[in-house]
Amino acid sequence: MTSKMESVIQKSLSALLDENIFLPKLNGSTRQRAYQSLVSILSTPNHVNKSFLRISLENGRVIRIPAFRVQHNNTLGPYKGGIRFHESVNEDEVVNLAKLMTLKNALHDVPFGGGKGGVVINPREFSEKELNLICKKYVHYFSDSLGTEKDIPAPDIGTGEREMDWMMAEFKSIHPGETYRGSFTGKSIMNGGSLGRREATGKGVYYSYKYLLYDFVENNKSLLDKNSDNPFVQTALSHRNRALTIAVQGFGNVGSVAALEAYRCAYLQNKIVAVSDRNITLYNDDGLDIPALIHYTNEHEGDLPTDQTELSKHDIKATVQDRDDLLELDVDVLFLAALEDQIHTKNQKNIKSTIIVEGANAPITQEADKYLTDNGVLIIPDILANAGGVIVSYLEWMQGRETQFYKEEEVFDLLYDKMSTTFETVLPKFFSDLFSLRQNCYNHSVMKLSTILYRQGKLY
Ligand code: GLU
Repeated sequence: MTSKMESVIQKSLSALLDENIFLPKLNGSTRQRAYQSLVSILSTPNHVNKSFLRISLENGRVIRIPAFRVQHNNTLGPYKGGIRFHESVNEDEVVNLAKLMTLKNALHDVPFGGGKGGVVINPREFSEKELNLICKKYVHYFSDSLGTEKDIPAPDIGTGEREMDWMMAEFKSIHPGETYRGSFTGKSIMNGGSLGRREATGKGVYYSYKYLLYDFVENNKSLLDKNSDNPFVQTALSHRNRALTIAVQGFGNVGSVAALEAYRCAYLQNKIVAVSDRNITLYNDDGLDIPALIHYTNEHEGDLPTDQTELSKHDIKATVQDRDDLLELDVDVLFLAALEDQIHTKNQKNIKSTIIVEGANAPITQEADKYLTDNGVLIIPDILANAGGVIVSYLEWMQGRETQFYKEEEVFDLLYDKMSTTFETVLPKFFSDLFSLRQNCYNHSVMKLSTILYRQGKLY
């Protein structure tokens, strides 16, 4: 992930210079200096906070757990980004995810900077009491740098509203009298969370796909006619005559919501033939019963049924396959909503889909991204597709300040408006120049940050 994001940012920076859109009023060495400042600001985080949380386990043992809070850039507003609980968390990864948040917020016009947190644990190995302690210690160790106007964490892999509630409560007791509702987002509704925040990332992921395949296609017929030999255009147009087959990798908070949206969508003919989780892939050529699978996972700690007996017991028709089979299925569309680096040099050649939607952050490696793009696969990148979470976090933060709350439909309407605005900005450019959709998004974010940094007098 490190090298991919860095190389996309470098390309955006060069594009700014080459196309003469980087501060065209400046020239010569003044321009060069401003450019160098921009490069160094974007490539380095402002702060990397690291601590070892001291936790006393229920069995009496005391352990120290590495934990991070990285604050990459706050040009656009307070640092913002989730806290991940996963055993593969490391400093490099958290720095890169914080950088991605800076660029994601800039792309979608969300008035926040970029931050990210991580704790190196497998949360399934800890009791509820121990997890509560880990959350409290996290806030305790990083308490000086967190706050409604400073740095606002949210859920990420391995965390959810329960953890955000615990953390907000700890923040409130450490900082009595300070505003606290906006110090964390992704909280439960009862604790000041927003309606729709839990579904926001998955909804946004599906919406990005629907926008591209439906809204954009309907409104840009002549552009598509001109590009009729493009494989994406062919897939996009074919949905009128047949259902597009979809496979969804990951059936957690993002994948299951995106799958349900696809299943219920009245605009596109979708057939979700496969879903997978950490254990298995379920496949059905006639389409899976997504509501029944969601009902099942809600009652089984998030896991899909793993054998025929379980499937028959719940009247779900599917065959069980290996977890990793899903990526190589002969389907039109892949939704990647699991972890990083899922498509890489070893499996890139076996991918048959012509459209891939990145619900997770960085699910495709740099090499695979190039290979697939060169082979005409249209990738709707993470920065564009999975911003629903942070967009609704922003709405939650605003509602916390006003102590006024929106109805669920209002939240989803605002989410759709915000994402559509971004799409309207980047999509026409994507069809009219040589950059990939990912590169186009980064170009837009980098350009925006450079203009704002210059106006703030930071580029000298
Ligand atoms: N963790 C989510 C992301 O990566 C949401 C961040 C937020 O809501 O601040 O975009």
